[in-house]
Amino acid sequence: MVLTETEPAAAPPAHEGILRRQSLRESAARTYARSLPIVPVRARGLTIEGADGRRYLDCLSGAGTLALGHNHPVVLEAIRTVLDSGAPLHVLDLATPVKDAFTTELFATLPGELAEKGRIQFCGPAGTDAVEAAFKLVRTATGRDGLMAFSGAYHGMTAQALAASGGAQHTSVVRLPYPYDYRCPFQTGGERGAELAARWTQSLLDDPQSGVSRPAGMILEPVQGEGGVIPAPDGWLRRMREITAARRIPLIVDEVQTGVGRTGAFWAVDHSGIVPDVIVLSKAIGGSLPLAVIVYREELDAWQPGAHAGTFRGNQLAMAAGAATLAYVRTNGLDRRAAELGARMLDRLTSLAAAHDCIGDVRGRGLMLGIELVDRTADADATGARPADPQLAAAVQHACLDRGLIVELGGRQSAVVRLLPPLTITDEQADAILDRLADALTAAVRTTPGPTGSSPTTMRGTSP
Ligand code: PMP
Repeated sequence: MVLTETEPAAAPPAHEGILRRQSLRESAARTYARSLPIVPVRARGLTIEGADGRRYLDCLSGAGTLALGHNHPVVLEAIRTVLDSGAPLHVLDLATPVKDAFTTELFATLPGELAEKGRIQFCGPAGTDAVEAAFKLVRTATGRDGLMAFSGAYHGMTAQALAASGGAQHTSVVRLPYPYDYRCPFQTGGERGAELAARWTQSLLDDPQSGVSRPAGMILEPVQGEGGVIPAPDGWLRRMREITAARRIPLIVDEVQTGVGRTGAFWAVDHSGIVPDVIVLSKAIGGSLPLAVIVYREELDAWQPGAHAGTFRGNQLAMAAGAATLAYVRTNGLDRRAAELGARMLDRLTSLAAAHDCIGDVRGRGLMLGIELVDRTADADATGARPADPQLAAAVQHACLDRGLIVELGGRQSAVVRLLPPLTITDEQADAILDRLADALTAAVRTTPGPTGSSPTTMRGTSP
């Protein structure tokens, strides 16, 4: 069934009751369910229909999972084909034609030596599992223990992945500065700020008195997603590649969120041309179903049989849906489409920023976009940026939902409104998303007092 904006919605079922039972029965740790109190019952492409009969444009896309949007025909067809074939759905890590086809399709897209001579490990089944596997692999291969990770990073919720994420404390992971143009601690931003961040990393590794020993690996995201949509400059990524290669430190690139065309290249590393030693993949590679893998240089394959096992590493439906998604993105050039459309959307967001002084920064790459909301009444801090305004961001998210638009919040203090639309959206849909966002922003600005409570946040050029 194709959902359109004009089609009459189905009769609303017990929407309220479902939400009430959820809040009574599910853990206090539930996340999206709090800020997005909807009950999805049908979905197609960009559109979700709720049990209350309302339709929403979904720019959360399963936290960046749905490269082709909800229930794309090629994904449904791939799943049906497996189901109708009588193939086993659970196979541990045994070889199957479905897995063979998925692996072939994935390798066809990977950069350089990874495509030619990479090894794949099916981890199970979430992004965080693949991050754990990557850490374990480099520790085995190097015989070293420490890890290097970046401020603001997000790698998952299992113990080691969390330890390497920005919010972690009391960990043995060495934390390095990620080039964050808008809040550059070196107060320069741009290429220069990124170069200074790279030099800091280099000096920690080379100074025998830095207190940092050579780690088992370095992990980074080419664009920090949960950290607030922060694209790393290509030059900085090349520097990280040089620094790690020269010191024989395996470079792990986490493309869980940036992969499969999202940033305007098939893999985000393709922008800079670097080839990591380990690439961590999940989300879009499963075509909306759970699937996670690492692909790594064969020299790192020091694992003994069974060194990294798991029951759920053979999800046949996910592999079929994933292979169909990878092939569709590749053959339809959706990575290029994401680059073009993303640039246009970024332009419009930049115009929006010119009209609202509560927008501190607008940034992104491809269809991974963010606007950072700040307290316009406050003074700039040491980095030259004004403090984040999480209260306004929450109000914008709420106002978006009221207008039938689902957006995600991210960033250090959840003050970055994030857009992760499917790569398949039309120009008209992109306009509809931005129209609703602009309208929501104006409404939220009018009704939300600044964090200091001193005066309401207002539109640039208008009186409070
Ligand atoms: N790495 C990155 C870059 C992510 O964005 C995420 C999830 N947002 C993860 C790892 C963890 O993936 P999962 O939630 O599937 O464990």
